[in-house]
Amino acid sequence: MRAQAAAAAAVVAIAFVLAAFPAAQPARRAVSLVVIGGSVVTADAWRTVISPGAVAIDGTTIVAVDRPEAVAARYAAADTIDARDQIVLPGLVNTHTHAPMVLYRGLADDLALMEWLQNYIFPAEAKTVSPDMVRVGTRLAALEMIESGTTAYADMYYFEEEIARATRDAGLRGVLGQTIIQFPVADAKTPAEGLARAEAFIKAFRGDSLIVPAVAPHAMYTLDRAALNASAALGRRYDVPVLIHVAETRDELKIAQDRHALTPVGYLESIGFWGPRTLAAHGVWVTDDDIAVLKRRSVAVSHNPESNMKLASGAAPVAGYLSAGVTLGLGTDGAASNNDLDMFEAMRQAGFLAKLTTGDPTTLPAAAALEMATIGGARALGLDALVGSLETGKRADLITVSTTGARQTPMYDPVSHLVYVARGGDVQTTIVNGRILMRDRDVKTLDRHAVLAAAARMAKQVRAAVGK
Ligand SMILES: [Zn+2]
Repeated sequence: MRAQAAAAAAVVAIAFVLAAFPAAQPARRAVSLVVIGGSVVTADAWRTVISPGAVAIDGTTIVAVDRPEAVAARYAAADTIDARDQIVLPGLVNTHTHAPMVLYRGLADDLALMEWLQNYIFPAEAKTVSPDMVRVGTRLAALEMIESGTTAYADMYYFEEEIARATRDAGLRGVLGQTIIQFPVADAKTPAEGLARAEAFIKAFRGDSLIVPAVAPHAMYTLDRAALNASAALGRRYDVPVLIHVAETRDELKIAQDRHALTPVGYLESIGFWGPRTLAAHGVWVTDDDIAVLKRRSVAVSHNPESNMKLASGAAPVAGYLSAGVTLGLGTDGAASNNDLDMFEAMRQAGFLAKLTTGDPTTLPAAAALEMATIGGARALGLDALVGSLETGKRADLITVSTTGARQTPMYDPVSHLVYVARGGDVQTTIVNGRILMRDRDVKTLDRHAVLAAAARMAKQVRAAVGK
């Protein structure tokens, strides 16, 4: 009984802090939103955790990260999210995906990359990719990302302007790359057409508050030298990111060696492709020299452990990248090769894979995996001045994660829980640019039923197209 009384007293005390802080303090600054009461994992340079903590947000911006009583004393919020029994952290950053490919989820599993790509995915895309398909797929992906705590993502696909509009409407942040590829695809017959599309796309979305337009040359084995160089030049001309798949599989390494007597990274170096805004997805088949090249050229790498394991592509040398000081982000890859966009799962698998392949369980500890999914990803996308950590002055991109279920009990260390226990479905609140996209698991910016119904309709077309 005494414990109950003490607990009741504690609840009263917190309620006092939340609701009834002295009205006789007129100096409190009016802000739009306060998230108060949970363990705040900031992902700042000192890996600060404030427990309990609070985040004050005004408009798009974080104005304070502090203890609940300090925030309650200084800020009067128009809206308050009670995050007690939750972990508050920066929104997760998915550095590599192909959003509309959620519509190919489970279409072709248990195959090697080249067979999967050449015999299933490219043919399916040839028959079904359209502006409508891309729109419907992106909405479905956005719903999944919001529901699982991703607030920013990098994309490489076709009709990228449709993806940008759907992403912006859903309220998510995106670094979105218009694909350039050698063979005819749904939105371009030639690389030159793809490049023209990419340039128009960049012009249309430059300066957007949520969308960063980018160029996405598919890979060194699906583009000739002229198209690779033109893609890199376009990125440089407009100072936008260049996204490319690099050294994903042993087959790609063999192609590079047979055609150019170089590794994929070495070949791209030899033609002057690399620039500081380049993001290399996968980076599995790299030598120490390749890692040194990527570091020297300030190229960031997107690590995609789940896709790499499922397609048996290999394991990227994560420890090697980190010790060389290469900027590393985490990605899910498209849902056709994963088969979901859950960044919590990606964090956990990144940790497990790094430990297994090095035979050293101290490799990629939880804090480092979390960093890769937050501030590391933001760095990889060139967004770290804006997002990736909970710090005053940054944009308010944050999520809250519940910790009260059987699976999360007990909790000794919130960072450990985020990486080794939490799942996307545990996310309660998703906020981007100060806007609440999901509250108590209720997504505000998308009509869930309409999104799922449209996706089911589109899946019928996919099924018919591939005879499945
Ligand atoms: Zn990919």
